[in-house]
Amino acid sequence: MVDSAALRFHAPASVEKASGIHRPHLAFAPEAPTFDGVRPEDVLCPTPAGLYSPAGRFHIDPTRPVEKALITHGHSDHARAGHGAVLATPETLRIMAARYGEGFAGARQEAVLGEAMRIGEATVTFHPAGHVLGSAQIAVAAGGLRIGAPGGYKRRAHPTCPPFVPVPCDIFITEATFALPVFRHPEPEAEIARLLASLDQFPDRAHLVGAYSLGKAQRVIRMLRDAGYDRPVYLHGAMEKLCRLYEELGVALGPLAPATVAAGKKGEFAGAVVICPPSEVAERWARRFPDPVPAFASGWMRIRQRAKQAGVELPLILSDHADWDELTATIAGIGPGEVWVTHGREEALVRWCALAGIPAKPLHMVGYEDEAE
Ligand SMILES: [Zn+2]
Repeated sequence: MVDSAALRFHAPASVEKASGIHRPHLAFAPEAPTFDGVRPEDVLCPTPAGLYSPAGRFHIDPTRPVEKALITHGHSDHARAGHGAVLATPETLRIMAARYGEGFAGARQEAVLGEAMRIGEATVTFHPAGHVLGSAQIAVAAGGLRIGAPGGYKRRAHPTCPPFVPVPCDIFITEATFALPVFRHPEPEAEIARLLASLDQFPDRAHLVGAYSLGKAQRVIRMLRDAGYDRPVYLHGAMEKLCRLYEELGVALGPLAPATVAAGKKGEFAGAVVICPPSEVAERWARRFPDPVPAFASGWMRIRQRAKQAGVELPLILSDHADWDELTATIAGIGPGEVWVTHGREEALVRWCALAGIPAKPLHMVGYEDEAE
């Protein structure tokens, strides 16, 4: 779906050699390091509104309303309403419309994975990021220098979105949500097996699984189906819209039903799986279910103290972000000339890069919370 009346980004074009990048005139600025004469800051640079491309005159995942926004994925800290024009994958555009309404941006345009587009003096391509449905890495090239910006990403197989594709680039901007050696996520199937084992062990208790409404909820349900669980999965109202959208976009979730407990019918939820916002698993809402088992599907469940504080009895370590091994293997595999680190625990990864002989720096951007995890 393309708003052809209001195309704010150029249609796919032949990849021309970028030239004449607009540089703000800074009379006394020291000369920044260059890659063969191109300054990285002319391709992408951190600003208070998010990453900005002087060459293309657009932002990536801006945290405040801008004229042109390229969006990596639908999580609310990356995809916000109110931009003049948005370029994103068709799935991300659908997610934004579901969350913010059809008028979420002045104009919108679909990005086709792998197809080069010329925007101003920059050439832009979108590639799968393996984070949530519709998630994309955005590679921006100008003057022969290419920077890869994946937003959130992970490397594990994921039944609800295509896998991450390593994209060669001169500078790789990595997230750092779980960038500490302590974060090593277990196999996702093993965590789902633990949920199923608990259902066997406690057939009279409702299992309330806290999961973020975009991505994690649908992944838990899809993985339950892949493990052979065919009973209805009950949804808190906050989960319904995006589960329906995932189904419309081709991710089958099996029988779903609203988690509405009718008077005197509490017993019907004995042994049921209920998916709800993480904030609800140990709250008043949970008490309507029979002897609830509070569970939480999150990479943070690696930290036992965090599970305990949240009142979680069954922590499921299931993350949509790369763990320490995935982060370092991704950087080593891409082999960029430089790494920029953002969104999380930046220092440990910067230090790992230094030890590996790769120049790296933290971007210190604000406005990206890890609520989505
Ligand atoms: Zn995200």
